[in-house]
Amino acid sequence: MPKEPLVSADEVAAFRANVLSKLTYSVGKDPEHAFDHDWFEAIALATRDHMVDHWMDHTRQIYRKGQKRVYYLSLEFLIGRLLLDNLSNLGLLEVARQALSELDVDIERIRTLEPDAALGNGGLGRLAACFMESMATLGVAAHGYGIRYEHGLFRQAIIDGWQHEQTETWLDFGNPWEFERPEVSYLVGFGGSVVPVVDENGTLRQVWHPAEAVRSIAYDTPIVGWRGASVNTLRLWRARAESELHLERFNAGDHIGAVVEEARAESISRVLYPADSTEAGQELRLRQEYFFVSASLQDLLRRHLKQRGTFLNLPEYAAIQLNDTHPAIAVAELMRLLVDEHLLPWEQAWELTVGTLSYTNHTLLPEALETWPVSLMERLLPRHMQIIYLINAYHIDQLREQGLHDFDLLRAVSLIEEEHGRRVRMGNLAFLGSHSVNGVSALHTDLMRSTVFAELHRLYPQRINNKTNGITFRRWLYQANPGLTELLVESVGEQLLDDPENLLPNLEPFADKPAFRKRFAEQRRRNKEALANLVYERQGIVLDPGALFDVQVKRIHEYKRQLLNLLHTVALYQAIRDEPSMPWVPRVKIFAGKAAASYHQAKLIIKLANDIARVVNGDPTVRGMLKVVFLPNYNVSLAESIIPAADLSEQISTAGMEASGTSNMKFALNGALTIGTLDGANVEMCERIGQEHMFIFGLRAQEVEARKRAGEFNAEAIVAASPRLHEVLMAIRSGVFSPDDPGRYVGLVDGLTWHDTFMVCADFDAYWEAQRQVELCWNDPKQWWRSSVLNTARVGWFSSDRTIREYAGEIWRALD
Ligand SMILES: *Cc1c(COP(=O)(O)O)cnc(C)c1O
Repeated sequence: MPKEPLVSADEVAAFRANVLSKLTYSVGKDPEHAFDHDWFEAIALATRDHMVDHWMDHTRQIYRKGQKRVYYLSLEFLIGRLLLDNLSNLGLLEVARQALSELDVDIERIRTLEPDAALGNGGLGRLAACFMESMATLGVAAHGYGIRYEHGLFRQAIIDGWQHEQTETWLDFGNPWEFERPEVSYLVGFGGSVVPVVDENGTLRQVWHPAEAVRSIAYDTPIVGWRGASVNTLRLWRARAESELHLERFNAGDHIGAVVEEARAESISRVLYPADSTEAGQELRLRQEYFFVSASLQDLLRRHLKQRGTFLNLPEYAAIQLNDTHPAIAVAELMRLLVDEHLLPWEQAWELTVGTLSYTNHTLLPEALETWPVSLMERLLPRHMQIIYLINAYHIDQLREQGLHDFDLLRAVSLIEEEHGRRVRMGNLAFLGSHSVNGVSALHTDLMRSTVFAELHRLYPQRINNKTNGITFRRWLYQANPGLTELLVESVGEQLLDDPENLLPNLEPFADKPAFRKRFAEQRRRNKEALANLVYERQGIVLDPGALFDVQVKRIHEYKRQLLNLLHTVALYQAIRDEPSMPWVPRVKIFAGKAAASYHQAKLIIKLANDIARVVNGDPTVRGMLKVVFLPNYNVSLAESIIPAADLSEQISTAGMEASGTSNMKFALNGALTIGTLDGANVEMCERIGQEHMFIFGLRAQEVEARKRAGEFNAEAIVAASPRLHEVLMAIRSGVFSPDDPGRYVGLVDGLTWHDTFMVCADFDAYWEAQRQVELCWNDPKQWWRSSVLNTARVGWFSSDRTIREYAGEIWRALD
């Protein structure tokens, strides 16, 4: 963070006194004997006090103004650390720094003790966290709803080159940011049966008698916006066994049974599913989804009714955004609550449901489209299954009335998939139950219209819209890169911090000033030195901060094509070995990312990266010209260290497969140049930055699609026509990088050759050529740093403030 120049001595003294008081009375430690962790807790609690004042003011204001509320339902929030976020948004960073230095406490050391809250897998969860911060900044009255997982995403250890998953324990030392709310609690039912009864008015009603009830307990974390603008709430639910029930059984002597029930209930909030973009077909996952949706809807309906006295105006005062299909059961649950519990007529309830809900789609990968077996739904959520059948029947009747009888159309838009055993399609459910369905980049939204939702789009042409993702600049620029931020403020003015979308373009003329480019390069150099230190401490590998830092950090997935990058690494290695005396551009290939625990191919790619690193780093011929690093346990904090130190950003997914990407934006904002395909938000970045300041290569989405339609997956001819690719594949296949197990990569290489699903071979030569352009540009520092400055200057549009303004204006209608 840039220094806040004037801090008052009174403020510093007050903060210091508050920290000491927290340390003594809340943590229960004598300053003389406090550990660093005790200090962290005391500082966090003192910071939280400041948030609470704003929080209560803001909440009172929302009530007074009768503001519309936005509810963001997400199974994932990839938050990271909060201390710096909170201090800097409150404008207290410099106050805290001075107060602590008077106490001889180094805030830089203390802040790294905070565990990363990793309640998410990757981009989707991080988007939810960026959105929470932007909503607080823009004054949208928002509540985030999710699950308070006891164990977040696993910790990745690399042992002998292989990924091992270790349990993550972020709550071991408590969580100073949250407030437990035992009084905010709802019962969530599972299983049992549905009984039709005729009520006193003679109306037939369905009464659900769940076999099991789980209690949800709220934990609230205040989320503060930039300059303390407003403070919203992230409400996460923990599952508890319904204690009275279990005490009865315990007293009756069924001790084990009582404990088993407790464990079963509490397992719901035990652990985050580590699956990224793949189906998690587990009953527990469905229990998690329904648990948090039901608790959240009960909570928001109670709030609405208390404030408005009726549900008839629900869409006017509440907007519920579904982050992917994970909360799609909300469609059926909202109908159940309105019809069964609050006795509204079906048609009216449907109108309110559609008017209130909206849905964001995050992926087109067929294996990631969520479906649940009808048999499982009938067993776990019998009333919801009935409601889904009813929604489906009403919908199909309505289409027939409109004269639509096309069997293929009706089959495609049905909520039930009949082909592979009967399953409920959560994407179609979310689509039908929402007034808005959005994609997350222009390309992705177009593809939604022409592929997964083609038929539904024909029926509801107004429903699909685009909201290109964004990132919060507070975390990804101001906090992650204080050096660059200071330089930008010095050049463009202090107001930059409040309005980067409009003021970053003022940086453009500086791209032509040699003195500025020099300073721009120098701050990058300092970030690279810091990263080199981190790599040396963790891996014992020495990096030259003068080398080109070529970075690919993200979940490991075949479609993201870390393999393509690794093939280039090997090709470069071979080229250098062939002609070691050529003037090679010194390069460091940096990788990081986790693979889903059950995703074998992704785990093999991690092993390959580590195998290549071992051989390359140990080869004296290429020393000084090529290094390969795989940094373990990629998370938000590691991203904050790596991204400001990157020269080259690898965004090389198979075109048509990355919905948006957000790390592409983080890198460009920090001045890295992108090598990438025309996929996801890269397309829009290219339009704004200018293609001449990026390295775009490879098949376009339409070309990929055409090859797939034609069944062109065999890459033998491609390999035969490319001696370089052929040599790379032969080296990997023959065990050059796996002498301990020469056959390790035979299957992998044969797969690429015979069935190149992700077009790795097809794009290899174009990628090699683009990498050559990278080197030519790097050798011309004027051109490189000019492009680098222009990248930063031109990506203001990718602020999540812009994205949220679009959601608030066009989907939620929640801006005053
Ligand atoms: C931004 C971010 C992501 C998303 O990265 P993509 O390259 O867009 O997939 C994933 N994980 C973390 C920790 C991030 O910060």
